[in-house]
Amino acid sequence: MNFDRRTFLRRSAIAGASLALGTSALRALGRTSGTAPSTGGSMKFRFYPYTLELKHVFTVATNSRTTTAVMMVEVEQDGLTGYGEASMPPYLGESHATANAFLSKVDLTKYPDPFRLEDILRDIDAIAPGNNAAKAAVDIALHDWLGKKMGYPWHRIWGLDPAKTPVTTFTIGIDTKDVVRQKVKEADIYKVLKVKLGRENDKEMIETIREVTDKPIRVDVNQGWKDREFALKMIEWLATRGVEFVEQPMPKEQVDDIAWLRAKSPLPLIGDESVVRLADIRKAIGVFDGINIKLMKSTGMHEAYRMIATARALGMKVMIGCMTETSCAISAAAQLSPLADYADLDGALLISNDLFSGASIVDGKVTLTGMPGIGAIKL
Ligand code: MG
Repeated sequence: MNFDRRTFLRRSAIAGASLALGTSALRALGRTSGTAPSTGGSMKFRFYPYTLELKHVFTVATNSRTTTAVMMVEVEQDGLTGYGEASMPPYLGESHATANAFLSKVDLTKYPDPFRLEDILRDIDAIAPGNNAAKAAVDIALHDWLGKKMGYPWHRIWGLDPAKTPVTTFTIGIDTKDVVRQKVKEADIYKVLKVKLGRENDKEMIETIREVTDKPIRVDVNQGWKDREFALKMIEWLATRGVEFVEQPMPKEQVDDIAWLRAKSPLPLIGDESVVRLADIRKAIGVFDGINIKLMKSTGMHEAYRMIATARALGMKVMIGCMTETSCAISAAAQLSPLADYADLDGALLISNDLFSGASIVDGKVTLTGMPGIGAIKL
């Protein structure tokens, strides 16, 4: 071997000089480094509250509302801005006040750039428990920035085929017969309807829709049925009315009842409120046939991707859902949708004051843009 001491010293000297000189000097030397030296924490972080106006009063088993509080987030570095969003329907416990308090504790100047995603997200998660939507907002903004920096949308970075996005359901909230008929008409381009049940008029809701359309229906009970025998009878009836599956039929605390129901149910059961984050999937084994993953529950795209991989490994179906959100968070979720069996990504269609343009619904199908990052632009 001719690896002599002089060669070693010369190589060491170059390496030492590289560390001292930084990237510009390395480029001058005709060399590049795989790990760029710290740019000194120049990431800028901003957030501001916004309120989404809903086109219709939206009623599910547990509440009604006409607005949704959101917090918009921006991460800026190297002349690029990444956008994120926290959507906070009141029943989940987050608000402008909680998001403001949480995001005020986020310090991104500690990190050289958003490529330190694992460290950043782990540290943010450790700031306080809960605050999942606020955490998701930062995660989405970082992903948006990263995709823009790399020049690709995330579905490309993940290696996904944009043609494989699923159709999305259009949600019909609990309402009077006239309003339900009107909403079904509005949902003309959608190939599958999602119907909210869990109050006294469940059968009336379904019968009203069946008077005007024979489209497949997916039912979301939002934990509304408390008695398992009643739930089984309802599901058996729904199975004769063109219903594909039932989401969260019973309260998340009634795990044994849901497992009993699943063993007898003619329709698959999908867990939503029962499955919030990655660690909850183990509780869904033997209880649900699939899970509904939402960025506002999963703390963002990073953990949602892991949840999909875990659900798949366990043979579970995957649904990508949303809250009422602008096209910012919807576009972020849409990046994952080629991995899903089912999508419920109509959140931006239910509001009248969107701030972004991005993933859209074409002929009922989730349709991605080719724009980098989360694939959305601020209007
Ligand atoms: Mg649901």
